Amino acid sequence: MSMDITFLGTGSAYPSPHRGASALVLRTDGDCWLFDCGEGTQTQLMKSQLRAGRITKVFISHLHGDHLFGLPGLLCTVSLNTNADPQQNQACVDIYGPVGLRKFLRVTLGLTGSQLLFPYAVHELEPTLDQSPEEGQLSMEMIADDGPLHPQEQPGRTICLDVSTDSYLLFENKKVVAKAFRLFHRIPSFGFCIQEHDRPGRLKTELLKELGLKPGPLYGRLKAGESIILESGRLVHPSEVLEETIPGRKVCVFGDCSSVLGDGPLRLCSGADVLVHEATLGNEHREKAVDHGHSTPEMAAAVARACCARKLVLYHFSQRYKPSSSQKDGDDDNVLELKRQAEDVLQDSSVEVILAEDFMNLPILLRR
Ligand SMILES: [Zn+2]
Ligand SMILES: [Zn+2]
Repeated sequence: MSMDITFLGTGSAYPSPHRGASALVLRTDGDCWLFDCGEGTQTQLMKSQLRAGRITKVFISHLHGDHLFGLPGLLCTVSLNTNADPQQNQACVDIYGPVGLRKFLRVTLGLTGSQLLFPYAVHELEPTLDQSPEEGQLSMEMIADDGPLHPQEQPGRTICLDVSTDSYLLFENKKVVAKAFRLFHRIPSFGFCIQEHDRPGRLKTELLKELGLKPGPLYGRLKAGESIILESGRLVHPSEVLEETIPGRKVCVFGDCSSVLGDGPLRLCSGADVLVHEATLGNEHREKAVDHGHSTPEMAAAVARACCARKLVLYHFSQRYKPSSSQKDGDDDNVLELKRQAEDVLQDSSVEVILAEDFMNLPILLRR
């Protein structure tokens, strides 16, 4: 299975000509999963190699506009490009995010008279009270979603914290398990962990031939972990004829935060192949960053170090940090300085630091 990330927006607060607002796409075997959808994400998508129509799942870290304002418009545009043939069974787009998201979409799509040519479902994560200061919590009135569903809306689940793992199980399929974890921000924020299942190693075909086994269904059974008995009565155990297990890849995407909450995030993200973390402001602005519920490169690096991540990707930069390609002499705020600040913390570790830029593509390779 191929896997890569494309960054569509790496700026905070609002989209600018230099940086789009928050959005990235994790692509697995052609399926596109969108993480956050700031204003302008659809035009960023059009400029990229990706196709909006391939988006099957959306993950929204929190309800701040720079992560969400683009979603209703994007859904409408995807719909415009969808085949209107009623015979064609359109798959449901699953949308995961904090409580309040269901109402946001129902109201924005409803008031604007927007009809979609595909169904969607919003699966809401129930935050805990310690995920934000009190003023960041939504009133019951604000989130009440007891009205009629939007015509294309299917009932979604409400997902509560599993206290035994300090995480939220979003879904699991044959290839991956997807979970969310709690972060502290001005309003409740979440991070997401996509963990690919481990896979059996390749069959040692030479050895199988020596044992007198020809390619066929028995190969599949061995690969599936089943022992088989040869005609001679010899038992063949899969471990004899399979190469080493191929570990699944792990991708973790953090929403805005000034800290993690509980031990779930670090446990879940342990050994991440790629850990995407915000670094809104440089270390010298730490107080201001934390005040606004954000992180500095030093803080992001500390998380990556604690998780023993392989790669730390920094994103969600204040718009004061222009991409290095449009940096001019005399510009005060140099984004390369943010990279250096993270690297300082990780000097004696093997974590690689990467600065995300709009349209950057990051392949995630299997560990062999
Ligand atoms: Zn933000
Ligand atoms: Zn935010």
